[in-house]
Amino acid sequence: MLNQLTISELTAKLGNREVSAREAMQACLGQVSRVDGELHAFISHDDNDALAQADAADKEISNGTTHSQKPLLGVPIAVKDVLSVKGQPLNCCSKILGKFISPYDATVVERLKAAGAIVFGRLNMDEFAMGSSTENSAFGVTKNPWDKTRIPGGSSGGSAAAVAADECLASIGSDTGGSIRQPAALCGCVGLKPTYGRVSRYGLVAFASSLDQIGPFTKDVRDSATVLEAISGLDPRDSTSVPQPVPKYSSALNGEIKGLKLGLPKEYMIGGMDPEVKQAVDAAVKQLEKMGAEIVEISLPHTDYAAATYYIIAPAEASANLARFDGIRYCDRVEGGDLADLYMKTRGAGFGPEVKRRIILGTYVLSSGYYDAYYLRAQKVRTLIRQDFLNAFEKVDAVITPTTPTPAFKIGEKSDDPLQMYLSDIFTISCNLAGIPGISIPCGFTANPKLPIGLQLLGKPFGEETILKIAHAYEQSTDWHKQKPAL
Ligand code: GLN
Repeated sequence: MLNQLTISELTAKLGNREVSAREAMQACLGQVSRVDGELHAFISHDDNDALAQADAADKEISNGTTHSQKPLLGVPIAVKDVLSVKGQPLNCCSKILGKFISPYDATVVERLKAAGAIVFGRLNMDEFAMGSSTENSAFGVTKNPWDKTRIPGGSSGGSAAAVAADECLASIGSDTGGSIRQPAALCGCVGLKPTYGRVSRYGLVAFASSLDQIGPFTKDVRDSATVLEAISGLDPRDSTSVPQPVPKYSSALNGEIKGLKLGLPKEYMIGGMDPEVKQAVDAAVKQLEKMGAEIVEISLPHTDYAAATYYIIAPAEASANLARFDGIRYCDRVEGGDLADLYMKTRGAGFGPEVKRRIILGTYVLSSGYYDAYYLRAQKVRTLIRQDFLNAFEKVDAVITPTTPTPAFKIGEKSDDPLQMYLSDIFTISCNLAGIPGISIPCGFTANPKLPIGLQLLGKPFGEETILKIAHAYEQSTDWHKQKPAL
């Protein structure tokens, strides 16, 4: 089945004309119609447009364009409902955007298309990317392909589930505090959050601008390198994107990890961690050691403050970013007596409870009298958290941790307890605060029910090559990434 292939497998078959892009696209759409009624990873897909793009790719291939020229030519890739795709709806899985249609392509989408990808479908997510379970979507929850009574993680739950269920070859998500790595771990795929500044956010609806990054979900590490290479690099339309050259990430995947130093932070071995998760991560660490890596215990002393710091900074930035959804410039307007009344009615009706909670928290920590006590202090702690990592990277090449403290939890299990929900990101948040890259790869399964477990590797700023190299070497020594959910 073509939809089950990795990008490298499909492009090899497309390149020697064994199969067509149309056939690959049809296989993905077939899988969507077979499984997505129940999974609900997609909130919409335009099949005619997808097939037209596939036909255009086939034409290019028959005209002689190769995959070394366009590495994603004919590859079906779906995107989270937070990225602009020209002519497609954009809702951030909120009610507030109504019938909004994107007037332009996000830079990432533009680059995927320039690399030949077929960009199709809108993937489910927590409203405005706020959440860890995709239960905050105004379009209904996505189910975990491994166990449909469980959440797929969030906020990019649709992106992870769609890849795990072979509904697309790869997908794109965004990660502000873990939203790529956490759902990748819970659905058993590879999820990469690049260094802050590596990938342009132009055309990404902003949640917390100093934390947001865009990255790929893929079926293996090689594909992650391929997609990252296509979407990275300077973009004058995002002032935070950096002029650092884009390495050929896939060339780093040579299995050579002998002598690399991996730091195991003692602060991450917390109580409350699921014993099967701990066991799987311990075994992965042993495996990497056997392969020649050197394991070093390190300390990231400010780890305890990461969640509290994040839940001040992220809502503060969100409260500012979401002010634009006011019913004047866009949004489903609810008319009111005067302007303030119109704002209140529009926002009251359009935003869901978690988004309102974040706006209220964010407005509070920025308000006079509390700004110094909360926001300013959080910014200082953020600097200390980043410094912890920079100190660690003096001694080690990468940091290794579990991606999540537990496997996927039941739908509804944490919905009434925001604090418990926030704690499911405990291992992923620091990476965004520090602005460093992180990847989650499959490292095992729980026994009963069988649920995926993720291993997280964190790298130096712009050290994507190193974490991809280590992730790839580990992956090649296991078959976790090849196991598929029974759908
Ligand atoms: N779960 C975290 C939150 O709710 C992170 C979300 C994200 O990375 N977009 O804010």
